[in-house]
Amino acid sequence: MPFMHPLLRKNYGTWRWHERPRPGVLRHVAASGDEVWTVKAGTQRQLDVYTVRALCAIATDLADGHLRFTTRSNVEFMVGAAERVDPLIARLEAEGFPVGGTGNSVSMISHTQGWLHCDIPGTDASGVVKALMDAVHHEFTHEEMPNKVKITTSCCQINCGGQGDIAINIQHTKPPKINHDLVAGVCERPAVVARCPVAAIRPAMVNGKPSLEVDEAKCVCCGACYPPCPPMQINDPVHSKLAIWVGGKHSSTRSKPTFHKLVAAGIPNNPPRWPEATEIVLTILDAYKSGAKPWERVGEWVERIGWARFFEETGLPFTKYHVDNWRGSRGSLNSSAHLHF
Ligand code: SF4
Ligand code: SF4
Repeated sequence: MPFMHPLLRKNYGTWRWHERPRPGVLRHVAASGDEVWTVKAGTQRQLDVYTVRALCAIATDLADGHLRFTTRSNVEFMVGAAERVDPLIARLEAEGFPVGGTGNSVSMISHTQGWLHCDIPGTDASGVVKALMDAVHHEFTHEEMPNKVKITTSCCQINCGGQGDIAINIQHTKPPKINHDLVAGVCERPAVVARCPVAAIRPAMVNGKPSLEVDEAKCVCCGACYPPCPPMQINDPVHSKLAIWVGGKHSSTRSKPTFHKLVAAGIPNNPPRWPEATEIVLTILDAYKSGAKPWERVGEWVERIGWARFFEETGLPFTKYHVDNWRGSRGSLNSSAHLHF
């Protein structure tokens, strides 16, 4: 509250109506007659201090010294009069911040922490986001999608990025390689054994030292043993791949929250621009844009046309590993000693 724009504080809880006069701009009108024009711009999400200073300077010069960030790291500036909107947009665009994302667009991609903060990523996340947002720039600044498209990325299979209309997640494809010299000094072995969702890890003595062993036939390559025990090295430049999932959402607007489902796997984890993953995402977006009815989210569109048709429309190959759902995975997850349904 202390940092809120004064007009928002004054009219708190008394807003009458709002409209979206152009992509990236919202106009809210309060019972008092006050108006607030909000201009939304995309950022590169992981912000360096120079960018933060540039955004603060824009707020100081053109937006009464106030700004706020959305959950997807868009930045919003509020002004109290229509004639102050265009100079704000011109300045943002001149400094490289695209204005958009308020309506039915591909909003800024949310990502997990990646190489920057987390200790277990198999890939970067902010890098994938930057490469993808460059490719879908038009879809952020022009609101031409049937409904909002929320894309997420996650840099390990723990997937703290959550559910998305389209999700790009890491996928390990080989069991961890164990550095037996380090296990005894670094890992609490019972904690590592307990972490495995399919009970594939056992304590073992290797070369006279206490260590661990993995039943590779059971291992589902989830990577959960790597955080408590870094000598269980699962990240691999070749065998850690990207997978693309479709149709998830957190909100209960229009339809229930849903889990996204796997539609493409084994995609090279190819920094710095991830061209293979980007191309698949663009293909899915094109099919959704041309095939969905107004206001259908990606998952609702797929639900209506059916998964078979989704694979036809996108040209993605369909294999038996795709479109597993929570009920379907019950059999495989039940093999764990730690999960009971
Ligand atoms: S997705 Fe995994 S590696 Fe990435 S930030 Fe979340 S927990 Fe860490
Ligand atoms: S925790 Fe995951 S990666 Fe590690 S052994 Fe178990 S199934 Fe394999």
